Amino acid sequence: MLIKNVRILGGEPVDIAVVNGLIAEIRPAGSAGPRQDGEGAAEAGLPEVVEGRGAIALPGLVDLHTHLREPGREDAETVQTGTQSAARGGYTAVHAMANTMPVADTAGVVEQVWRLGQEFGHCDVQPVGAVTVGLEGKQLAELGAMADSAARVRVFSDDGRCVDDAVLMRRALEYVKAFDGVVAQHAQEPKLTKDAQMNEGVISGRLGLSGWPAVAEEAIIARDCLLAAHVGSRLHVCHVSTAGSVEIIRWAKSKGWNVTAEVTPHHLLLTDELVEESPNGSYNPIYKVNPPLRTRADVEALRSALADGTIDVVATDHAPHPVEDKETEWAAAAMGMVGLETALSVVQEAMVDTGLLDWAGVAERMSAAPARIGRLPGHGRPLEVGAPANIVLYDPTARAEVDPSSFASKSRNTPYEGMTLPGRVLATFLRGRPTVLEGKLA
Ligand SMILES: [Zn+2]
Repeated sequence: MLIKNVRILGGEPVDIAVVNGLIAEIRPAGSAGPRQDGEGAAEAGLPEVVEGRGAIALPGLVDLHTHLREPGREDAETVQTGTQSAARGGYTAVHAMANTMPVADTAGVVEQVWRLGQEFGHCDVQPVGAVTVGLEGKQLAELGAMADSAARVRVFSDDGRCVDDAVLMRRALEYVKAFDGVVAQHAQEPKLTKDAQMNEGVISGRLGLSGWPAVAEEAIIARDCLLAAHVGSRLHVCHVSTAGSVEIIRWAKSKGWNVTAEVTPHHLLLTDELVEESPNGSYNPIYKVNPPLRTRADVEALRSALADGTIDVVATDHAPHPVEDKETEWAAAAMGMVGLETALSVVQEAMVDTGLLDWAGVAERMSAAPARIGRLPGHGRPLEVGAPANIVLYDPTARAEVDPSSFASKSRNTPYEGMTLPGRVLATFLRGRPTVLEGKLA
């Protein structure tokens, strides 16, 4: 197969020849090549030539933080629909969070998710294992058995809940060292956030909603950085949302400690002001998310931190919920937003069009770094000869209104409905096989 006229990381136009799922040749666009392009592709039912029309080519995106909801909440999402959503967003691999029903806290459940991914996945599905049994924060789960299973788990997280017991967190950090694993912490001190509804600040005061203080996140991050340093292990901080968290992570990195961090697209673009006033009215639960949307100053700090590498990764925290769980009163509504199909556009809007990040920076933070942190072989590699042909073609000049009814996800809880965002994923290739072509599932 030949992918014609694309610009790798926004560079000069090239043609990319793909053979047996690998990048076989990269040459200046339109120049004659020695090989018979597309030979054998037609017999395999694949397109022989894909016209890139000058699109930007990036390595297939990798998400460190996706909720696929299967098993247990197939009304919200399944492995099939979630990975279709991922493919449409340019992803070739996702890490599936463990807060399913049953919880992915045994080798049996992570293997079940892994097999569902093999069978129904439109991208690779890498299960995340729970840190504690049932996410209950009382007893360590079978981390070693999950690591040794067919699912080869390397990322462990109780995401949705915080591992707030310092002794358990220390043991988990010690335990994962044996197999080069990492503990991904959802940093939320539970007592400081009891009944919390939105960011604690001027607006929560005005609206009379109970506040979710920044310190609840920052205190856990500080503690866990110290624990990770103490036991010499790897810590990953999920969905960093405050300027103070950024400062703590910057300090931990300056010490040479093995700490990485992610930020979500929504925390790079949206603020708590939307809870008070938005095109969707006030108190609209579409903006209810964990951690909560913060202030403009926090958004600025998160953007700078992502630009300078203090924050390593953009992770979607794709959190599908059925309509009845979101379209209800604020206090009763579920927390979370879908994000896979809008992530690249939001990152372009917040980071690229603002001059904070170039396309090489986007590739590092949305593909290479998450693959490295998740120890995911075959993903996050630069687009060069010999690498697996995991590729996304992206047109940054397109602009369109976000239309949730077009999503492949089973859920529609996007905060961007009606917003005009830049960019469009034209095609996604998983080991040379198109999962998306012309913006549609292939
Ligand atoms: Zn979380």
